[in-house]
Amino acid sequence: YCINNIICYHIITCKMRDISNDGLCKGKTTMIEIQSLKNLFHKHFLSDAEIIVRAPGRVELIGGHTDYNDGYVLPMAIDREAVVLARRRNDLTVRIFSEYFGEEIEFELSAGLNPDEKQWANYPRGVAALLLRAGKKLIGLDMYLSCNVPFGGGLSSSAAIEVAYAKTFLASVDDNFNPVELALLCREAENSYAGAPCGIMDQFISVLARKDHALLLDCRSREFRHIHIPFEKCSILIADTRVKHNLGESEYPIRQEQCRKAVEQLKTLNPSITSLRDVDTDMLKHHADSLDQLTLARARHVVTENIRVLEMARGLEENNPLLAGKAMNQSHDSLRDDYQVSCDELDFTADALRSYSGVYGARMSGGGFGGCVVALIDKSQAENISDKLKNEYHKKYNIEAGIFCTTASGGAGIITGTQA
Ligand code: ADP
Ligand code: MG
Repeated sequence: YCINNIICYHIITCKMRDISNDGLCKGKTTMIEIQSLKNLFHKHFLSDAEIIVRAPGRVELIGGHTDYNDGYVLPMAIDREAVVLARRRNDLTVRIFSEYFGEEIEFELSAGLNPDEKQWANYPRGVAALLLRAGKKLIGLDMYLSCNVPFGGGLSSSAAIEVAYAKTFLASVDDNFNPVELALLCREAENSYAGAPCGIMDQFISVLARKDHALLLDCRSREFRHIHIPFEKCSILIADTRVKHNLGESEYPIRQEQCRKAVEQLKTLNPSITSLRDVDTDMLKHHADSLDQLTLARARHVVTENIRVLEMARGLEENNPLLAGKAMNQSHDSLRDDYQVSCDELDFTADALRSYSGVYGARMSGGGFGGCVVALIDKSQAENISDKLKNEYHKKYNIEAGIFCTTASGGAGIITGTQA
């Protein structure tokens, strides 16, 4: 974020989220400014950075598991981001140093760029390969990547780094790309190079975010609209449970399959249904008897979640946080009961938050089985709420939850001109 034109970053110095062990993210948080990153770049590459690009992570305010059902989502860019510093080279070599991993990767810009064994290398390789395929005349770069979006916690560090890489490659050749095309390209890189079958939400919000706004996105038509958030009185609190249950990996494709099954069965009754997006609550009630209980519950979550996304957007736009918060609470209940993707830690956190005064609503955010809870809270009570939650969560699980409040940041951009 920006204080008197000095851009500061919380650099989280922990190296690995040891989720399999105790879920604790060990390490401390320090604040460094952009000048320090420039110094680090210089120290590493023995020359000055010419290009600096930032791209934010995001939180899903509402719209759980609606994306792959052609539905609505409402993400917001958070004030944590990926920052890439770069310098042009005279050849086609790309070298990237990741501060987080403390290591450097290297590859050549050529038509035969394929996924690599090293997982984190696949994000820049994918982005570069797809830009080359789109006809961009890229040149070699030395890059330094710093990212303070907590990694693997559902705040989309992956989209932040993809978008930051893509914008850096383009800036280095003074080229540009339509923002929607850029988001789609980064999403394709994540799907086909990093092997993550994500939807379009993360990359869209990282590219298209507007300060103080969330993004109401229709995953079917890809139409979007910025929704103002009343930050004069509200704040967005994010609580990372710092747990990730393995169940999530296997349950995700099962949920997708269950939604497909619901569509298939409903289609036989009404041929105009091609996805759960085409189903409304009346239709679902009408056809309820023809679905088994589990399939009905899964479909009910998606159908009602789409309504809640629009309801929350309305609540925010009408400066009515109670209405927006109510939609969040109902969303959590539906994800827990009908979609069954919550877990004990998420339920505990959402319930604790809801019991505090100054909390309008709280829900699990992202895929589920761990990760974050997001809450819409009264700004004046932010500190109180954070402290209470921190203590209660620690008492219950002996884990330090990662709690922070954030405003909505703008979309990815170049911090310093190409000749800085
Ligand atoms: P998230 O929910 O944070 O997006 P993902 O599993 O989708 O989690 O993406 C995390 C991946 O993104 C990491 O495994 C790593 O490959 C890449 N990544 C995230 N942060 C960094 C970083 N600072 N340096 C290099 N790669 C990173
Ligand atoms: Mg991701």
